[in-house]
Amino acid sequence: MSPPSRRNEAAVDAEVREKIHLEILKRVGAYHANDHILLPSGQHATEYIDKTLVTAEPAFTEGLGGVIAKHFAQWPVDVVLSTGPGALILSHCVARAHPSRPTLLYGTKVQTGGKRKVTLPAEFRQLVRQGTKVLIVEDLVSTGNTIKLLIQLVEQQGGQVTGIGCLWRRTSKAEVAGKLVYSLVSRDFPTYPPEACPLCKKGVALNEDFVSRRERRKPASAEERSQVS
Ligand SMILES: [Zn+2]
Repeated sequence: MSPPSRRNEAAVDAEVREKIHLEILKRVGAYHANDHILLPSGQHATEYIDKTLVTAEPAFTEGLGGVIAKHFAQWPVDVVLSTGPGALILSHCVARAHPSRPTLLYGTKVQTGGKRKVTLPAEFRQLVRQGTKVLIVEDLVSTGNTIKLLIQLVEQQGGQVTGIGCLWRRTSKAEVAGKLVYSLVSRDFPTYPPEACPLCKKGVALNEDFVSRRERRKPASAEERSQVS
């Protein structure tokens, strides 16, 4: 039997890695599959990833951050940069495990004149300057917009993006703004408007748990408040 080619080995590795990481995300309750799920957007799907729960289990997050750090270990990194609470927790774990012992910084998302932007807190600005090597870390990448904003931020400061690592990439393309995104899970899943949902057509019961959980977080409506008082 001939040995598998290097290319095949890499593909098998990525597949195995993805399976392991999906199991981890299932165990923390962040990933659900083989179901008929009502998404917060109103669409239906067979899978769901809950961004909030992705980093809820520190030991798992450390393990996942370690895998991303290992991938980028061969390149020197001065700064690990992220934005948003989930990505920040993950990026701490990546920075902790990277052999360059990079500094950990985070940007803040702001909305100015209808445009989204990521800015660095004033204390961090001098830490990203000409030639600073930056590793960008995200938890979930769907449109890639946040990564684009982070790249812009680094380049405006004169820094260089050494790499982009994330837990889950839902875009079909492996690149954002011409830069390769390394992801532990690269998986998109179809979502359907209710009227075109194949599971609805088969009469499968709809799981509304994820939406009602969000609804419960919302402040009570005036009507609800009047019922209480
Ligand atoms: Zn449906």
